[in-house]
Amino acid sequence: MIYFDHNATTPPAPEVMSAMLEVMGQHWANSSSQHGPGQDAKRLLAQARARVAQVLGCKAVEVVFTSGATEANHMAVRGLLAAAAPPRCRVVFGSTEHAAQLRLAQALREAGLPVDFLPVLPGGRLDLHAARALIGPDVALVSLMAANNESGVLLPTTEVAALAHAAGAPLHVDATQWIGKLPFHFGSSGADAVSLSAHKFHGPKGVGALLLRQGTPFVAPMPGSQERGRRGGTENLPGIVGMATALELLGDVAAEAQRLRRLRDQLEAGLQQALPSTHVWSQHCARLPGTSYLRFGRLSVDVVLQRLERIGVAASSGAACSSAGSQPSHVLQAMGVAEDEALAALRLSLGRSSTEAEVAYLLTHLPPLLAPLLVPEAVH
Ligand code: PMP
Repeated sequence: MIYFDHNATTPPAPEVMSAMLEVMGQHWANSSSQHGPGQDAKRLLAQARARVAQVLGCKAVEVVFTSGATEANHMAVRGLLAAAAPPRCRVVFGSTEHAAQLRLAQALREAGLPVDFLPVLPGGRLDLHAARALIGPDVALVSLMAANNESGVLLPTTEVAALAHAAGAPLHVDATQWIGKLPFHFGSSGADAVSLSAHKFHGPKGVGALLLRQGTPFVAPMPGSQERGRRGGTENLPGIVGMATALELLGDVAAEAQRLRRLRDQLEAGLQQALPSTHVWSQHCARLPGTSYLRFGRLSVDVVLQRLERIGVAASSGAACSSAGSQPSHVLQAMGVAEDEALAALRLSLGRSSTEAEVAYLLTHLPPLLAPLLVPEAVH
């Protein structure tokens, strides 16, 4: 099988699996226990925290382990909001955030809080002009993703951090799709809180972190004695060690990004040449290196996915979490894309295992299957 769905998840690296097995077999004690095995587990947890901090450019005390990015996102928003000094209560989100984050935005609105969304321009780029107008002194926090999971578009988090800070508000960044794909350094990111998830960079599922800048006012929404009172619950030590291992395995992220950008560009150019009705969204925006979000005319993505399945290629119609429904993507809607075009959206996301041979295979086998199904654009 050719796997072109790396934005949905990535396979755990072999080194990650063996590190986790060792922890599960030998260091299964509770890291809060006072006995010897518990203290061993505690040492391992501290080591893993230091390893994570080293790769991500933060202090060990700034790492709060979570069950993944959804939890880290919710924790950041609720925790920063609860700590905001009244009368600050308006929450500003990006309009193309992850579906679970938009659900949270909706829940806050239903609870009576003022919530605003930062609009994007037609290519998916953030409308900074609108952002300047929306981020004012009544804002409790701003939450913006670093890179979009569907289009791959990069959002200007540094500029938005400056706007938020000028208004006296913290910025939370959902860097789930960025970390592992592009170089990252928390210290110089400008963000006050950053979410990440291990399964997006060859670590295990069900583990992630919230990086929380030291000194940032924060009221834990799920308090407990662990994680310095910022997140209750026995730490998932195998997962945490797996995540630290996956981060260390990333190596030269910039070089890998360059390799994937080249492969992705080859793929897009080949498809556009073979099937002229191919439209690539955000093609000229700053994007994640391996992500391609495209449509073949208005051909339903369900049909395209069936043909891909037939030739042994795994891809998706967008976010894995919402691709089960045939609703047009909220990301494309925010970009002003018409519904019939949005329902044709296919996401191909390349990653560590992707090769030139795989791209060549797809370019050889997919266009002949789709060409007979494509009617000229003018007919519509
Ligand atoms: N944010 C973004 C941008 C994502 O792509 C995802 C994963 N689809 C998440 C958050 C949720 O991550 P997790 O699966 O770790 O909860």
